[in-house]
Amino acid sequence: MQKKKIHLKNSIRSRRWFIHVAGASTVFAFLKSTRLLASIAEEGKLSTELGAADAKAARAARFARKVSSPQWIDGKFRNTLPEKTNFSLVFRKLFLNTNSRPSTPIPTVPRKKSDFDFAPESGCRVTWIGHSTLLVELDGMRFLTDPVWGERASPVSFAGPKRFFSAPLPLSELPKIDAVVLSHDHYDHYCAETIEFLANSQIPFIVPLGVADRLEEHGIHYSRIREFDWWEEVEIGSVKLACVPARHFSGRSLFDRNSTLWCGWAFLGRSKRVYFSGDSAYFPGFKEIGQRFGPFDIAAIESAAYNQAWPDVHIGPEQAMQAFLDVKGKVYLPIHWATFNLSTHSWTEPGERLLVGAQKRGIDIVFPKPGESLEPHAVPSAMKNKWWPDGPWETAEQSPVISSGV
Ligand SMILES: [Zn+2]
Ligand SMILES: [Zn+2]
Repeated sequence: MQKKKIHLKNSIRSRRWFIHVAGASTVFAFLKSTRLLASIAEEGKLSTELGAADAKAARAARFARKVSSPQWIDGKFRNTLPEKTNFSLVFRKLFLNTNSRPSTPIPTVPRKKSDFDFAPESGCRVTWIGHSTLLVELDGMRFLTDPVWGERASPVSFAGPKRFFSAPLPLSELPKIDAVVLSHDHYDHYCAETIEFLANSQIPFIVPLGVADRLEEHGIHYSRIREFDWWEEVEIGSVKLACVPARHFSGRSLFDRNSTLWCGWAFLGRSKRVYFSGDSAYFPGFKEIGQRFGPFDIAAIESAAYNQAWPDVHIGPEQAMQAFLDVKGKVYLPIHWATFNLSTHSWTEPGERLLVGAQKRGIDIVFPKPGESLEPHAVPSAMKNKWWPDGPWETAEQSPVISSGV
């Protein structure tokens, strides 16, 4: 018996080496099917080591998929268009930040679990929790995008952009969620504290390539995570989710820039469709998204954190409205605004510029307060008005933000 155990350990060691070298899911399937593993399981030995081997094989398979992506070039993910940053402008503008935070409390609409007991009449309801966090209900399924409940969008708890208001729906009041959907790993979209809370559930995670390694670090079991490249699709219940391109970047430290992919998502229901932009500068991809998956009943598009100094990673309000038209949106829902101060523009400026621009272009735009829900067929007229206070801001003409190369 002792001899058999030593033989088994040696065999496992040699197979682990094979996993490292081959790094493919077929190897994992082969290992699972061998009698060797069955006999070990019978003995009830080394079960945690086997779990580690499974996770390692899954990681290797994910890595193989990542490096074979068309977006992975020379060891990093790349945009389809080049990126220009004007560092002198960044420096100058940092000292001109006025009206950067609300001076009076933001009017939020507190929500609780039972508010979501009743299915939306239209089959589609979107609730803005704040920033890019949306509760998307479609055909009886519920999705949570970029869940951020943390106090700061920052790697540390004592510094960094602090939220303007507490999330109107406490995490403890979340209704049953069918999947968490992430756009990328920046701190204002990927909140470790929130992910660790969600680790205590069984909710699956739908994420772009490379993000699963991070999720594992924050306690999400690998079997709950599915990674996607641009234009790949997955079905969850009767809803199809399509991972769509964005023009942005990723990273959580000085040393990991673009090691994970960034994206937007199209939620395609039986009769209603919702677009979620993630973070993106303006690029021709919006038109293609519209051609492939439009029209969208609600298009949630990032509308703040823009700057003349970095027009190739965040879209300005005017080009955001062009993106809305490109994807064939019907109702424009601004996101990524009025929650954190992530640039030098006044916090109310995106809302003001969108109001002006939407009227000029005949765009149906809504401004829910944090916590408010909307269904595409019955948007309350009050939701089309501004809820934020007057304050200084720069017009599109005074401070145009135009992505390059388009
Ligand atoms: Zn980002
Ligand atoms: Zn962001």
